[in-house]
Amino acid sequence: DTAHGAILYLEDITVSFDGFRALNRLSLSISAGELRCIIGPNGAGKTTMMDVITGKTRPDEGKAWFGSTIDLLRLRESEIAQIGIGRKFQKPTVYEQLTVFENLELALKADRRVRASMFSRLGGEQLDRIGEVLALIHLKDHAQRTAGNLSHGQKQWLEIGMLLMQDPKLLLLDEPVAGMTDEETERTAELFLSLEGSHSLVVVEHDMKFIGELTQGGRNGKRVTVLHEGSVLAEGTLADVQANEKVVEVYLGR
Ligand code: ADP
Repeated sequence: DTAHGAILYLEDITVSFDGFRALNRLSLSISAGELRCIIGPNGAGKTTMMDVITGKTRPDEGKAWFGSTIDLLRLRESEIAQIGIGRKFQKPTVYEQLTVFENLELALKADRRVRASMFSRLGGEQLDRIGEVLALIHLKDHAQRTAGNLSHGQKQWLEIGMLLMQDPKLLLLDEPVAGMTDEETERTAELFLSLEGSHSLVVVEHDMKFIGELTQGGRNGKRVTVLHEGSVLAEGTLADVQANEKVVEVYLGR
């Protein structure tokens, strides 16, 4: 059974908008702890795929499983957000007027399992958790800064930190390094590689240098998936897909 051991399993997902197939029998399997990069030209269906996984868009056909027991297509968007799937959109949405620390605190208290009131004080374990996340997102020395004063890259990290406060199993990241400096991009690769193994990550990205950093670091044999016209055109190591004739054709428009 292919679904076995996968944290996310999509099978023959089709999404039509007025007869146009944004996804056309898309199948994809992500293993627990895997860091998967998804590439593909504009209009390939990457956003629609994320929308299906998070329940924002209902497919016409197909199957979508989270782990081996949860049928995503039976859940509402609000329910999917509670089962350990965190999505990061392209634009950072942090509370600009609050400090970095307060942003993380709010995210922690928004987690249903924490059951803390917005006004109650944090326990030691929770403070430790915030400290851990601050270190991961490279903001340990910026905890008391107002989020609005952070650089674009730091805001993106903070938002990832807010997702991490909710302890997601699967993170969906849409063009996470768009607009970042080279240094911020490198440090974002570092962050994702440190999450690999303990989390599953699906990263949609155009920046090939960043994809190179992600696939060369961390675990060996990382796979890249190329979407085109709503289905998987190629899948394999970065070198494999870059050498794939169909992929070259799609990107060079021959
Ligand atoms: P990508 O994220 O890879 O650029 P999208 O998933 O955004 O691709 O879009 C795939 C295709 O579906 C595009 O041709 C897009 O125009 C179309 N599409 C996406 N959302 C809608 C919608 N709500 N209504 C109509 N067409 C849509």
